[in-house]
Formats: sequence, C-alpha cells, structure tokens
Amino acid sequence: MGDGAATVVWDAALLDYDMGGDHPFNPIRLELTMRLARALGVLDGVELHSPEAATDAELQRVHDVSYVSAVREAPMASWDVGHGLGTADNPVFDKMHAASALVVGGTLLAAKRIAAGHSKRAVSIAGGLHHAMPDRAAGFCVYNDCAVAISWLLDNGFDRVAYIDVDVHHGDGVQAAFYDDPRVLTVSVHQHPATLWPGTGFVSELGARGAQGSAVNVPLPPGTRDAQWQRAFHAVVPSLLGAFKPQVLVTQCGVDSHREDPLADLSLSVDGHRAVYRTLRALAEEHADGRWLATGGGGYQLLRVVPRSWTHLLATVLDRDVDLGAPVPGEWLAAVREVAPNADLPLLMGEGAETAFAAWDGVLETPVDAAIRDARRALFPLHGLDPDDPRD
Ligand SMILES: [Zn+2]
Repeated sequence: MGDGAATVVWDAALLDYDMGGDHPFNPIRLELTMRLARALGVLDGVELHSPEAATDAELQRVHDVSYVSAVREAPMASWDVGHGLGTADNPVFDKMHAASALVVGGTLLAAKRIAAGHSKRAVSIAGGLHHAMPDRAAGFCVYNDCAVAISWLLDNGFDRVAYIDVDVHHGDGVQAAFYDDPRVLTVSVHQHPATLWPGTGFVSELGARGAQGSAVNVPLPPGTRDAQWQRAFHAVVPSLLGAFKPQVLVTQCGVDSHREDPLADLSLSVDGHRAVYRTLRALAEEHADGRWLATGGGGYQLLRVVPRSWTHLLATVLDRDVDLGAPVPGEWLAAVREVAPNADLPLLMGEGAETAFAAWDGVLETPVDAAIRDARRALFPLHGLDPDDPRD
C-alpha cells in the first residue's frame, strides 16, 4: 500500500452517540460490527486509534457558532432550542455535544493521518453523518464529520477531494457544504428523491455557478438491486473521477441500501456492499494515489446487515477481504443471542446474492438505464466527456 498500515479509528466512547429509546440510530450497530470484525480476526494486530473531540474551531469550519452553542446547551434547556433539535429524528440526548464532536474528531483523525502520510487509507465507521447542515441537525446527524474533514483537507495540502456517498439517502449536507466549491466533487448514488427523504439529489443539482459539474447525483428507482446499482455506478462515477483527478477519496458507506433495511427501498445485499467497497478501493488506487478515507453512515438492520457489511468495509480497507462463504463466528452469534434471543441471525458472511453486472452500453433498456443516461447527459459535457459514448 505504499505508506504505513491503514488507520482504523475506534474508541468505545463513540457509542455515546445514542439517541435513546427506539431510535433507529442505535449504537449497537457499531458495537456488533467491531465484535464481528474481532471475532473474524480482521482486527488482529491492528492498532485502534482513539480520537479526541473536535474543537469548536474545527466544528465551525462547517457549522454556525450559534448552532454549536445550541447543541451544547440543548440538554439543559427547558425551551424549544430549534435548529432541528428535539425532534423525533434528532432527539436531544445528554452527551449530545461531546459525543457528536467525538464522531467528528474520529473522521478528522482519519483525515489527518492520511494528510501526514502515516496511512494511505483510514476508516471511521462511526462517521458518515452526511445530513447535518451548517445551522441544524437533520436525519439523525448533529455535526457533519464528512464536511468538516473535507474542509480540513482543503486547508492542509489537498486541492481536489472527491466525496462518494453510497448511502440510500442523498448526501445533502456534504453537497450543500461544497456546492459552490470546484475543489470538491460530491457524488451521491441514492434512492430517487421523489420516493425518499430528504427529497433532494436530483440529476439537475449540478453545483453552483463556477462549480457546475462538481455535484453529481445518481437517483435510482426503489427496488434497484446489486447488478443494476453497480451498472449505474460504473457508468457514471469512474469516468468523472478520471476527469476530476482527485488527490483523495472520502466515502460515506451507509448500508441502508440493503433490501432488509426498514427505512428505505433499494434492494442491495451484503454481497453487493462488499463489491461496492472493493470498487471504492480500486478507484482510490487508480485515481487518488491510493488515498481513501472511508466512513460509515446509515444502516438500520442492526443485527443481520450492518455488522456484516461494515466488517467487510473494515476488511477491505485493511486488505484482509473476508470470503462471502465464511461462517459467522459462533462467539458473535452467542453474544447477539443474549440481547436478541429470537432474532434470525445470519450464519455466513454473504447472502448468495447475484452481484455480477453488465456494463452500460449506451442502450436504453431499464429504468436504471434512463437514470444513467440522464446523469451522463447532465454531467459529462461539463467534464469534457461524451455522454453517449460508453467508452467515456
Ligand atoms: Zn441513510
């Protein structure tokens, strides 16, 4: 890999990002991921890097001073604090500021270790809070770790950052943060906004004047499966990376695109997630001198999907790829059965899904092909590429 070993950011304190009750963003998703990765040996001999909380100055790269104050004071406030806080999606919790700042600190630590040359790759599975806006919480996200880290990279030696978001939801907060900045290519592949919150992420969102073409959106119809998802991704994203020439890839690796996810309607598999991570790794090698900062993101099938998919993410970052036919370790199953005795738990690391795909050939056959055509026609001319030539 060139530089030193990949950086894995982890500390149990990251589990304090806990919205409580039956909120879907349950930190058990991270705890069970780390437990599964350990049980499989993926983390054997790997140093875990503990982050420090991001400072106010770091948070204010992206967030308004008044919003950071509101987050800090919200647990003590007896009034409506506004800023999207205290809602069903973004309930106030005791350690909200400290836990949220720690998540940002984790992704920042990953960025700093890449910038310093300690690692070419770094992974922050607690990160990926892509919906947070400058002045408000949104979609379970308090502070936008991805945007803070990208902003920091831009001030520390990087002029061209590509952000790739494969969460089922549009990466709206990161897109908004850099909408007028031609130094950041934001790419989001997601379920079509007419069918899913937050209702943005149309092909026509291309970036502001001066940065036209720096926002890339590939909205896909509900029900899209692995092969069609990958057909769309490969028809649009690699060519744009080739034209943009990033120095680093920052990726949001949400796994709520899985067919069993309770909050959305794409139909990917764990096998498909693993294939996507391997693609992201290859793209970093080909287009970004191997530099890859991977974060987590959404994912609400807490027992059957998130732990397996993000174990594959950790393994991919570490070049310790886990076979889809590998058994799920009995010690992990026993631990999960203690908290969920009736859950239908997976026994293998894959699902036997069909992930092979046919490359887009310029022919219009499926609704996904229409999405591909629309994205290419909107974006490719802005990057000197031919939208109708499958070789581009
Ligand atoms: Zn999501």
